[in-house]
Amino acid sequence: MTSEKPTNQFAMQNPLTQYPQPEFPKQPQSAPGLASAMSPKPDHGETSYVGFGRLAGRKALITGADSGIGRAAAIAFAREGADIVLNYLPSEEKDAQEVVKLIEAAGRKATAIAGDISQESFCKALVKQAHEALGGLDILVNVAGKQTAQKSIAELSTEQFEATFRTNVFAMFWLCKAALPLLPPGATIINTASIQAYQPSPTLLDYAPTKSAIVAFTKALAKQVIGDGIRVNAVAPGPFWTPLQPSGGQPQEKIPEFGSEVPMKRPGQPAECAPVYVLLASQESSFITGEVFGVTGGNPLP
Ligand code: NAD
Ligand code: MG
Repeated sequence: MTSEKPTNQFAMQNPLTQYPQPEFPKQPQSAPGLASAMSPKPDHGETSYVGFGRLAGRKALITGADSGIGRAAAIAFAREGADIVLNYLPSEEKDAQEVVKLIEAAGRKATAIAGDISQESFCKALVKQAHEALGGLDILVNVAGKQTAQKSIAELSTEQFEATFRTNVFAMFWLCKAALPLLPPGATIINTASIQAYQPSPTLLDYAPTKSAIVAFTKALAKQVIGDGIRVNAVAPGPFWTPLQPSGGQPQEKIPEFGSEVPMKRPGQPAECAPVYVLLASQESSFITGEVFGVTGGNPLP
């Protein structure tokens, strides 16, 4: 089956043939990997996402915004009228600069701040710098994540276990903690969980429980801060075509068939996640908090 890339996010078509299906070429990269080195190229909505001012004047900090799901959210937020601070690792500068250009082409302000969120001091500094650069802060989107497959618990080191938790869970805690005193009523936090929170793979013994932790953290924090008028939700993607996967997130031999296990028999493209982030960031979702939205290609959340 050939695929037909959409002209915009509304054009009606068969979702099965909307994007490339397996088989894909093997394509090892070292973590965190670059979107620009992937084949086929992921679709982050660069040529398709059309905005309608749903986030007009909003100020968003997005982690992991250089590539994948975070890039797609950044493009969509900018086209919906938000200014953006994007965070990523220094080795991803090339991907990040592409996103800066796309945000600026949408007529919005982009501030790129590279750095490692597995360090608490950097998380605090990132929030402070984002608040200054944007002249305020009303959306925090935690997308950055680390995923490294290991065949057995015997091969999973304490260093990896800790690094995965620091990147996926501790950083979210530190960023939320630093941001909350700065957030006005109406502000939103969006975390990024995974289908792995509910259907863990045997090779993701560290990663899957970080995603369960993100689900529980999201629900608890939502109840804690709604009294201040702040909403907290999470998105739980299924398999998505991003650098996370070929750079060690999956064993390389699984890349050719990546996505074939879901009912849609293909991986999602980052552009297909962006509308959910936009909805959860905007006032349209005013009565939604503590929720986890699955974007899974047909494997529903429990
Ligand atoms: P991606 O590789 O494009 O994005 C992950 C980003 O995390 C990287 O671009 C990098 O900038 C950032 N990152 C990693 N470690 C970091 C660190 N120490 N400091 C700062 N930034 C760091 O891949 P993606 O798939 O778009 O991942 C985005 C989120 O989606 C992750 O939380 C991931 O767990 C989640 N997710 C992905 C899938 C999938 O199949 N791709 C499925 C479910 C959930
Ligand atoms: Mg990246």
